[in-house]
Amino acid sequence: MERSEDLFARARRIVPGGVNSPVRAFGAVGGTPRFMAAGQGPYITDVDGNRYVDLVCSWGPMILGHRHPAVVDAVSEAVAHGFSYGTATPGEVELAEEIVSRVAPVEKVRLVSSGTEATMSAVRLARGFTGRSKVIKFAGCYHGHVDALLASAGSGVVTFGLPDTPGVTGASAADTIVLPYNDVAAVEDAFAQADIACVITEACPANMGVVPPRDGFNQRLRELCTAHGALLIVDEVLTGFRVSAAGWYGLDPVEADLMTFGKVMGGGLPAAAFGGRAEVMAYLAPEGPVYQAGTLSGNPLACAAGLATLRALDEAAYARVDAAALAVGDAAAQALGKAGVPHRLQRAGSLFSIFFTDAEVTNFAEAKTQDTGAFTAFFHAMLDQGVYLPPSAYEAWFLSAAHDDEAIERVVAALPAAAEAAAAAK
Ligand SMILES: *Cc1c(COP(=O)(O)O)cnc(C)c1O
Repeated sequence: MERSEDLFARARRIVPGGVNSPVRAFGAVGGTPRFMAAGQGPYITDVDGNRYVDLVCSWGPMILGHRHPAVVDAVSEAVAHGFSYGTATPGEVELAEEIVSRVAPVEKVRLVSSGTEATMSAVRLARGFTGRSKVIKFAGCYHGHVDALLASAGSGVVTFGLPDTPGVTGASAADTIVLPYNDVAAVEDAFAQADIACVITEACPANMGVVPPRDGFNQRLRELCTAHGALLIVDEVLTGFRVSAAGWYGLDPVEADLMTFGKVMGGGLPAAAFGGRAEVMAYLAPEGPVYQAGTLSGNPLACAAGLATLRALDEAAYARVDAAALAVGDAAAQALGKAGVPHRLQRAGSLFSIFFTDAEVTNFAEAKTQDTGAFTAFFHAMLDQGVYLPPSAYEAWFLSAAHDDEAIERVVAALPAAAEAAAAAK
């Protein structure tokens, strides 16, 4: 760990918290964050030469595993031509066509560079289109670090959100109505009390752990938005092109007005998108009045990586992701059960997470009842045995098509000792 410790010390001197995205700092689990130097297939190797089975997969993008040959070839080919022109390029058209062909509600799409930009732009567009300002979001749903969407406080029926983080103004949070997830009555109440521009929801929440929508929940949001002239924004940044070729829409085909994508569609490079009904997208500049832009939007290297990733994701690849997720989730639940650790495995397609509680989790308040101390012990025992889990109890575990029998065996072999560590931590 010497080199990781060294780098972390250097980083903390000049980077806040030593990291460029908070969860990387291991704040929730303690210890030294590992600085990674390389990845191959289902494995990542840190700067001290330790190799781990990767169950984070860059939080989703590496769905084919690290350095998939088709993606390496496509990016190398793009690099040979040029990095960025600030002009339109062919790859953008191909990537947009690929997205539109997969997800029926998306008639037109705009490329951006991060999921945050996608949700921020989608909300702006929804406000511009409807001429209204209020946004409904759900507690525990993450949509990137957009000011208006960082509010998540409150579990009342209708909470007019207070900013959760300094720097988000009261005015910005006041237009955000935060509701408990899976609570249709709360949404109905909010619609009765205010003019709503849009409802934004994760297609299937996976940023408070995996909390699937109750049967018909997304459809009910669709009906309420239609009835009240609001837009439905379904955020598929995490689920998109991961849980099926058409993302969550492929499993639960609810017609959103706008959708957001990221992670998998960039194949590990910065690419994201928002899109939807042509009539709504026509409000976007230069066609319409709502401004949105980006120096590196549709970057040729990112488009090449994204296109190659999506094209390599055939049925067989999705079947491998599904099978790996099934095997690892079941094995983890079994080991924890054997060790007597209260836990709950929640699945949504190939997404899953384990809550360290035995009650069903249907919203953020319930997610927060879990025993994070048990998770911390579990996490470190897995890490010590060469398995890299998300360093937080509130994250999904990510598998890839490259997680073969050998990689899964390594995870399975590490589980009993980790489960015992979790049991001992109680
Ligand atoms: C990751 C994520 C985002 C933010 O994407 P970034 O690329 O990190 O800005 C937005 N929404 C959801 C559902 C996400 O999982």
